Amino acid sequence: MADSTDEKPAGEEAGLSGLQQAYTAFIVHTQQCAVCRGTGIDCADAAALKTAWREARAAA
Ligand SMILES: [Zn+2]
Repeated sequence: MADSTDEKPAGEEAGLSGLQQAYTAFIVHTQQCAVCRGTGIDCADAAALKTAWREARAAA
């Protein structure tokens, strides 16, 4: 717990599935990230979020 990343335990946000959380995290990031918005290319963080989303979707 050294850093302050905002990792919430599954289910903390009422009723959201892991898939929805992963999708929302990716979309919110791309809307707020200067690199993603400025270049249209996923930055490393966006790529990690997209991978997490794909894995959640594949597991759904
Ligand atoms: Zn980004």
